[in-house]
Amino acid sequence: MEPLIVDGVAITHPDREVFGDGGPTKGDVATYYEAVAPHMLPELRGRPLSVVRCPRGTSGACFFQKHHASALGRHVKAVALKEKDGGDAEYLYVDDVEGVLELVQMNTLEFHPWGARVDKPDQPDRLIFDIDPSEGVDWKAIVACAREIRERLQGQGLESFVRTSGGKGLHVVVPFRRGPAWGKVKAFCEGIADAMVADSPQGYIAEASKAKREGLIFIDWLRNTRGATSVTGWSLRARPGAPVAMPLRWDEIARLKGGGAFDMAKALKRARSSETDPWEGIASLKQALP
Ligand code: ATP
Ligand code: MN
Ligand code: MN
Repeated sequence: MEPLIVDGVAITHPDREVFGDGGPTKGDVATYYEAVAPHMLPELRGRPLSVVRCPRGTSGACFFQKHHASALGRHVKAVALKEKDGGDAEYLYVDDVEGVLELVQMNTLEFHPWGARVDKPDQPDRLIFDIDPSEGVDWKAIVACAREIRERLQGQGLESFVRTSGGKGLHVVVPFRRGPAWGKVKAFCEGIADAMVADSPQGYIAEASKAKREGLIFIDWLRNTRGATSVTGWSLRARPGAPVAMPLRWDEIARLKGGGAFDMAKALKRARSSETDPWEGIASLKQALP
């Protein structure tokens, strides 16, 4: 089969079914990302990026990749960053749809950026509350948790934005002016999570311990650290059914079925509808952490 050319990028084996029998093909993944790139790129470009690559589709082994390699393509850029052990390593990032598609050609399904940009990796401009329900928690409770985080942030003068993860939960994202280092940002998030647990110990937990989590929602504030990532809006997830992490308006989350409510087909429909961007205003919002 001939390669499929998408925005000038050759996608080989476009007929390969990557989400199981009868599911979306590699070619579908490429045309999906081409269609949603105008929505996805503002939150993705210029940030160190980890990708989930699945060379044999979602039924085979997938792996996280954060380091650059020239084989990834001409538009996949490199940035030298300090590693935890003090050494330097080349991390990857993209600025344009061609870079996204070159990563798709290398069997990327998921896109996970940092909460900081490549020019100042030590000064984040996004923080995230990753809402992780344990088995059996009602969607209503998950929505209430997200709303409470939003209200507590508003109490500190901060607007926030919500998306489904494409998995089980929701993510609440806060953009802010660069300045504070990661440690300060993480402590701020821990403070909110701890206050919520103190007020609702029967609903929430702020410790990563899986054993204690039963029946509770884990308010995961630990993503706010240098090198941590979260899945970006409009990214597919490498799971059966091709779910998508979807940015939403706050008034939309109550009527969803769950964190996996959007799949590739629904996301495409949303991308093509003339509705305004659910995260409209995030780029121009000027707010600073207290
Ligand atoms: P769910 O709603 O099912 O929790 P999620 O994307 O929030 O979906 P988490 O396990 O809570 O999944 O992880 C939060 C984020 O942490 C992910 O979006 C991802 O960017 C990052 N992450 C998770 N697991 C890994 C891993 N093994 N390696 C690197 N990053 C990871
Ligand atoms: Mn999560
Ligand atoms: Mn988590």
